[in-house]
Amino acid sequence: MCPRGRRLINGEGGWLASARIVCHVLLVEAADGLVLVDTGFGTDDVRNPRQLTRPFTAALRPRLQLSETALSQVRDLGFDPADVRHVVLTHVDVDHAGGLPDFPEAQIHVFDREREAMLDPPLRERARYRVGAAHWAHGPRWVTHALEGDEWLGFESVRVLPGSDDEILLIPLPGHSLGHAGIAVRQEQGWLLHCGDAYFHHDEIRIPARCPPGLRAFQALVQANGRLRHQNQERLRELTQRQPGGVELICSHDPTELDHTL
Ligand SMILES: [Zn+2]
Repeated sequence: MCPRGRRLINGEGGWLASARIVCHVLLVEAADGLVLVDTGFGTDDVRNPRQLTRPFTAALRPRLQLSETALSQVRDLGFDPADVRHVVLTHVDVDHAGGLPDFPEAQIHVFDREREAMLDPPLRERARYRVGAAHWAHGPRWVTHALEGDEWLGFESVRVLPGSDDEILLIPLPGHSLGHAGIAVRQEQGWLLHCGDAYFHHDEIRIPARCPPGLRAFQALVQANGRLRHQNQERLRELTQRQPGGVELICSHDPTELDHTL
């Protein structure tokens, strides 16, 4: 997404230049198929940007290209999109769940609280879920997860694929949305924690924390619960201090983190 105001959003560059906001998605090769962590925008959004609503596209100016959809990128990596058996969502905002119709056979994993909010949103959250409705009109195969007392490095957690050797965990990080989750993926060495929209800029999880003012204002504008959001950012800062090298944190929208991963 390329909204105006690069300096206020990315913290460098011109005041009126286009900012760079990415949608960082993971593809995991698991034992029984592929797992996507978030989808970004989908091919339907590219063909019909109007379904994202005019206020959204006017403000955030998403660069909608087929080649950048998860569907295209899965193919470009040499995989069959039908082998994406699971999609694990941090939350269901349009820039995270837009690609759901591109993987109609996959099981879609979310926290029960996010699904509840989606089905019966409180008044001030209604617009958020109405914008995304086109992304689940086809009737995805939802799998909702509830906490059952498991713990991961001091956070509550639930295994997305119980019984499999693949360790992919939903970690509740509510605040941005009511059922917002981080997704922890066990790597060969250590863990990767995809924090979704729990923070937006890499300096927010460092000490001292810092965030460009435009990005800070945007997060406050779209948050479902500010108190929880700030608490969880504090816990992520504490995690990076406590586990140096053991856990790599990324968020959805920071271009520096994406460039670092590629
Ligand atoms: Zn987002």
